[in-house]
This record gives sequence, C-alpha cells and structure tokens, in this order.
Amino acid sequence: MVKKNQLGKTDLYVSPIGLGTNAVGGHNLFPNLNDETGKEMVRTAINNGINFLDTAYIYGPEHSERLIGEVLKETGNRKEMVIATKGAHKFVDGKVVFDNSPAFLKESVESSLKRLQTDYIDLFYIHFPDNDTPKNEAVGALKELKEAGKIRAIGVSNFSIEQLKEANKDGYVDVIQSEYNLFKRWAEKDLLPYTAENNISFIPYFPLASGLLGGKYHKDSTFIDGRAKNPLFQGETYLKNLEKVEKIREIAQAKDAETAHVVLAWYLTRDSIDALIPGAKQPDQVMENLKTLEISLSQEEIEKIDHIFHN
Ligand code: NAP
Repeated sequence: MVKKNQLGKTDLYVSPIGLGTNAVGGHNLFPNLNDETGKEMVRTAINNGINFLDTAYIYGPEHSERLIGEVLKETGNRKEMVIATKGAHKFVDGKVVFDNSPAFLKESVESSLKRLQTDYIDLFYIHFPDNDTPKNEAVGALKELKEAGKIRAIGVSNFSIEQLKEANKDGYVDVIQSEYNLFKRWAEKDLLPYTAENNISFIPYFPLASGLLGGKYHKDSTFIDGRAKNPLFQGETYLKNLEKVEKIREIAQAKDAETAHVVLAWYLTRDSIDALIPGAKQPDQVMENLKTLEISLSQEEIEKIDHIFHN
C-alpha cells in the first residue's frame, strides 16, 4: 500500500506521487493525444495506489475533467480519491481572460462538479490571479464553498508571494501550486519559506521540466509540442541542461534507480512539498514514477543534486 501524506493543515491524505492530468484529454495543450490512453493512465494510477489526481477546467478545455469523471464512475472508488481541479479561465470573444470574482468561482465549481460527476471537489484552486478581485475576497468565496461542503480545501496557483499573502490574510489558503523544478528554483526565495511557516502545502508543477528531467532526451531529440518554444529546450541552453541531467543519471545509476525517480525524490525532501503531480503520456510512465517511493536520498546526494543545479 502506498503511504499517504497530509496536505498541509487539511484533512486530505494523498499518495506522495499523484498524477498530473493535463495530457489526459488536454487536446488544446498537446497534439495527438488519445482519450483511451488518457483514461488508461487514470485507471493505472487508481489501481496502483495513486489517490491524488490534478486536473483543471482549461485542460481540454473541460475534457480532462470529463474523462476523469467517467473513470471515477467506472471504478466506483470516488471516496478514496483526492481530486484537485482549478478554475479562473473564461473565454470572451474567443480569447482567454482570468476571472476570480466570487460569482465566477462559484459557477466554476458547479460546472466542474458536473463534469467530474461528483458532489464535492477535494481541492479547488484559483488557477491564475486576475487583475481586479482582491485575493482574500476570491478566497472568501472558496471558504463559503468549503462551508457548503462543495469543496474540501482551498488552493491558489500561479500567485506571487504578495498575492499569496493577500489571499491568505484570513489564514484560509491550504495549498499553493506553482512552477518549481531543478531548473526553475525561484520559489525557494520566498514562496517555499512562507508555505513552510504557514503550514500551506506547496505542490510544484512541471516537476520533470516537461520531460527534460525524465532523462530520456538527447542532443538530437526534436519536439512538436510546447517544448518546441520552451527556453529550456533551446540551443546551447538545452545542451547545458542535458549535461546536468546526465549528472543526475550517474547518481541514479549508482543507486540502481532512474533519473526521474531521483529528481522526484529530491523534491519530496523539501519542506512543505507534501506531494508531486508528475504528468505522463503513457500508463507505463505512471507506474515508473511511483517507483520514486522506493528510493531514499542521503544528505550527501541531496546536496550534490542541489549543487549541480546551482551552477
Ligand atoms: P512534467 O510533470 O514536468 O512532465 C511530464 C512529462 O514528462 C510527461 O508528459 C512525459 O512526457 C515525461 N515523463 C513522465 N514520466 C516520465 C518518466 N518516468 N521518465 C521520463 N519521462 C517522463 O510536466 P506537466 O505534466 O506539464 O506538469 C505536471 C502537472 O502539473 C500537469 O499534468 C498539470 O496537472 C499541472 N500543471 C499545472 C499548471 C498550473 O498552472 N497550475 C501548469 C502546468 C502543469 P514525454 O514522454 O513526452 O517526455
């Protein structure tokens, strides 16, 4: 059985390795996705002890939530699962805008509930901040939804430290989801210390740097999705990044582990990172990433990895 971690001060207990599902039905984000493969990844997660799924309205849009809803209905184990979803995106004249108004957030939760075929959402995040709504007012709307039993925990995502502090004025924020990986470590400056001090769980997104930290790419690899323009995957920077990944591979090999396991295990040594949500394109990657839980890193290895990515 996979041991569970408590998310901050919530009553949610999750497998430290969850599943990020932007490639489950996220046809607007990745080319050539297959819905059946997406559903199979969710089944694989559920059948192997992963109880933490991360989705959002905008993955599809709507489609990721729908596919997850279908699998949950089919497997019949909604109660054991911790389902996180997000809202804030709205289409106006075909363009995306962010809306954190209490009315829009309440509407978003209602429509996510329908797509997920459930009567509560375990963790609902404000996906992106808007320019107008005071952050504590937006979170206040989620507090009302929590009291009404529609959501169990309150999250914010892509908030700066100032926005997080304003959002958490009344102490209601349970989780923040933010970009963090070995290449992108700016959260260490203020978000991670703040979350540790305030018992807020920090969930890093892009933990594998969109696959670059998975260890399978080489200098001649080509990319047709968002990675084609991602600065981490360009020219000299890409080559330098591959050298760093190679150093992780050496550490992994000495432990009889894979690069991705070592990278994911390293995050779990950080204060306030209770769980990870690596994405996957195939069910075998879901299984692979679970193996992270079989390895532990020595203090020396933790520092070595830290050092590789500080240079
Ligand atoms: P990621 O976790 O950094 O990378 C996932 C990709 O890495 C997979 O799609 C797969 O791509 C590769 N991979 C997975 N397991 C691997 C393994 N064991 N070995 C080698 N490669 C492996 O990126 P992500 O999926 O985009 O982000 C994770 C989750 O964070 C998302 O699913 C989503 O739920 C969430 N997210 C949230 C936000 C936000 O604004 N809050 C933004 C982005 C993402 P390939 O096989 O194609 O290399």
